Amino acid sequence: MLIRKLFKFENAHIVRNCTSDRCKRSIHGHSYKVELLLKASKLDHGQMVYDFGLLKGVIKDIFDSFDHAICFWQNDDPEYIKACKTFSARWVSLPVSPSAEQFSRVFFFLAQQVLKSTVTQNGEGDVEVYSVIVHETDTGYAQSFMEDIENQQMGKLSLDQIVFSDQVQQEWADQEMYEKLKNGIKFQNPEVDLQVQI
Ligand SMILES: [Zn+2]
Repeated sequence: MLIRKLFKFENAHIVRNCTSDRCKRSIHGHSYKVELLLKASKLDHGQMVYDFGLLKGVIKDIFDSFDHAICFWQNDDPEYIKACKTFSARWVSLPVSPSAEQFSRVFFFLAQQVLKSTVTQNGEGDVEVYSVIVHETDTGYAQSFMEDIENQQMGKLSLDQIVFSDQVQQEWADQEMYEKLKNGIKFQNPEVDLQVQI
């Protein structure tokens, strides 16, 4: 069983080394749509894969970090990176280029890390990320699966190398959220009083 949750944000980037001249030489933005697909082989006490309301917590805050931010590849020209950090309060530094393909890997990876660090309380089963689809435009999207996240040729992903600016962090509900994630401190979902015995 799959469920799908849609997130939206605006983000600016340059995609180095791509074929399109406009994309690789000019800062430009997209209105992104991200579809997070979760799967499980059993349902929770609410007979759901995973309550959509639970996706409004840490995962939403992490995905929202990319909104009205500029994303750059950590290997880009140091002068460009310095300018991004100087002139944009909201920025995200990535170990990979901010293409739609890599965004789909990064969001898959981040959501997967959050789910692994979450203690569920309502009888959820083996909930995991099945896929992430990132729509960069109305007509073009990239979709990643588990094997793409582990594919080293596509670039290694790690929490330490995904860095959020101070301004981004200050806007999180829990400003320690990312440090907790990096340090393996668990997030606890709310307890649920059952209204109908099962
Ligand atoms: Zn672009």
